[in-house]
Amino acid sequence: MILIMGVAGAGKSMQGKMLAGKLDYQWLSTGELLREYVTGDKKQEMLNGKLLDDKELIEIISKALKRSDQKHMILDGFPRTLAQAEWLLKRHEEGQLSLDKVILLEVPQDTVLKRLLERGRQDDNEQTIHNRFQEYEKMTLPIIKLYQQHGIDISKIDGDKTVDDVGEEIASLFDKE
Ligand code: AMP
Repeated sequence: MILIMGVAGAGKSMQGKMLAGKLDYQWLSTGELLREYVTGDKKQEMLNGKLLDDKELIEIISKALKRSDQKHMILDGFPRTLAQAEWLLKRHEEGQLSLDKVILLEVPQDTVLKRLLERGRQDDNEQTIHNRFQEYEKMTLPIIKLYQQHGIDISKIDGDKTVDDVGEEIASLFDKE
């Protein structure tokens, strides 16, 4: 399984889908799953850019993983917290799945702001974009540290380039193997 990580607007979904096409892998996005299933107050929280409860996310992802071929999967949007990361790492270390690679898309804040305002999804306004940045810095960066400590292969990619250039850089990670 390949994880694709980065702040909202870094290009995870676009690049995740492109890579899935190239490798003939399945692309699984927690954001997409949640937009399908979540309603009511929780939907509002999502629209405000807040992360949803870990326990619930783990349940949802656990079910989705059971239905899929985990070896040939690109997971987008999970893990986003240390608890989610620890849960996934435990499964990796127990041999229930394999964290083969983490692709970390790095993009500066002003580029992300510009991209998201152009994308114009319902949950994209300056305030929610700011909230998601804060969450990202607080929650996601420690995940990278944890995974580094456990020897997971992490590739940092400069996402502040055109879609095609970023796509090529990601694809080149796999040519070498
Ligand atoms: P995304 O499409 O990845 O930008 O996700 C949209 C929204 O779904 C996020 O702002 C969160 O509210 C929620 N979400 C997606 N993935 C997760 C996750 N792993 N943990 C908690 N909330 C999530």
